[in-house]
Amino acid sequence: MKTRIAVAKGDGIGPEIMEAVLNIFEANEVPLEYEFVEMGKSYFDAGHSTGMTEAAKATIENLGILFKGPMETPKGKGVKSINVTARKVWNTYANQRDFRTLNGVQTVFSKAGIQINMTIIRENIEDTYGGIEHMITNDVAVGRRIITRPGSAQVIRYAFEMARRKGLRKLACGHKANIMKLTDGLFLETFYEIAKDYPEIQASDIIVDDLCMKLVSHPEMFQAIVLTNLQGDIVSDLCAGLVGGLGFAPSANIGDNISIFEAVHGTAPDIQGKNIANPTALLLSGISMLRFLGLTGHAATIENALLYTLEKGVHTGDFGDRATKSSNTTEFAECIIANLGKHPSVGGAHGQPNFECKTNSDFTPEKNKITVTDPNIKEEILGADIFVEFTGQPSELAEIAKSKLNDKFELIMISNRGTQVWPTGSVYTELVNQFRIRYEKVDNSELTQRDIFDLAAQVSDAVKVGSVEFLMKFGDKIGYSLAQGQ
Ligand code: NAD
Repeated sequence: MKTRIAVAKGDGIGPEIMEAVLNIFEANEVPLEYEFVEMGKSYFDAGHSTGMTEAAKATIENLGILFKGPMETPKGKGVKSINVTARKVWNTYANQRDFRTLNGVQTVFSKAGIQINMTIIRENIEDTYGGIEHMITNDVAVGRRIITRPGSAQVIRYAFEMARRKGLRKLACGHKANIMKLTDGLFLETFYEIAKDYPEIQASDIIVDDLCMKLVSHPEMFQAIVLTNLQGDIVSDLCAGLVGGLGFAPSANIGDNISIFEAVHGTAPDIQGKNIANPTALLLSGISMLRFLGLTGHAATIENALLYTLEKGVHTGDFGDRATKSSNTTEFAECIIANLGKHPSVGGAHGQPNFECKTNSDFTPEKNKITVTDPNIKEEILGADIFVEFTGQPSELAEIAKSKLNDKFELIMISNRGTQVWPTGSVYTELVNQFRIRYEKVDNSELTQRDIFDLAAQVSDAVKVGSVEFLMKFGDKIGYSLAQGQ
């Protein structure tokens, strides 16, 4: 029985490296059947705003697995990256990138005899990748960073399950909760909450800047790390550098219904059409996909042939011994095919499945799923932050803000770029033309949404209001941060 999967060849070097990988699969008689789908730059150019045809979308949703080459996002046409859109629309919430020392791929660590074998799990949907950005004034751009409890729980549980499946002893959470106390704080809190279900795995956390420093000085300290989206993006490229660069970085985007396997690198337009691209990253992604589909024997045979080939010094132009002749993409794939059945002298492939296999055939949703972790939590409105455009001194804005007060509110503070400038501040703090006015309720008042919008309307009579954020309390937890210096 062959498993049907969707395949998108991609743009730039995509078709060349995809052909090389599919030839290797064919030579190993991997029982897959390919449905080639129409996705990528030419489909943007043909007027498909998502970069794919309706038929492609239907095929991918039906089959649940997409094996894709890199795709170009047209610049300056107001379109979003097809790669990011695909991950978000289909809720592939966990991005798994496995990095290991490959014999034949020289790095500073391989030369020093330090073996690297680690997995980065990056949250794949949330964070600044929502792309929710606004110019609030002509000088001030604001982006929303969205971290949710269900979204964090989904990817963190995935990371612990992955660690358990691989028999790892340790999982670290990378974060910046010392600065972003609510967003990264929520991710970190969820991490330790879920860690309780996995007592055999040593859970720890590390601030992301310290993590980067330790990764480049002692990468062998880490087995697996889970991070939020943007930090995970940066840290995983750093890890790609540790094992030889983007040409060796595979990526699996795992969801409950649809999963996408692709290389980390892009379309490499500078070498497109020359048949010199390195297909290793896409091949490693394909090997992960085979394990995901339960084809662990084929995965191990192909991985061993790749490792043997690298160990023998065969290389494309982007790595390896410059004194020996480079193979082109086709020759590199042919060497791997010729080496099917051979084993590297060290660090051979593992036989166990990397992933818990879940495809669309198991579960096709009829409605959008919505998760609320505690629908009965007590909520209270404690006040509002009103963001306004103003060009003047803080004390002048304070007079305006006070003049709009009613008996339900008191004026607490004014900040500029997150730093308190009233009632106290420093004359050395430089200002831009957007301020935040914080109002809180007076002791015994009870606030409604209408109270907040009425107050904002009053303020808007005097200054331009850009946006309003409620100051909330959930249960016994305050749901907003203090200003610097407050
Ligand atoms: P890139 O990864 O395409 O290229 C960076 C450098 O690495 C180039 O010098 C390139 O020649 C080299 N390189 C990349 N892959 C290689 C390979 N397999 N073999 C040998 N050399 C390789 O990054 P970029 O130039 O910033 O991006 C080009 C395009 O790719 C952009 O349109 C970008 O949006 C897109 N992109 C797509 C994805 C994806 O589909 N997941 C990821 C990243 C970038």
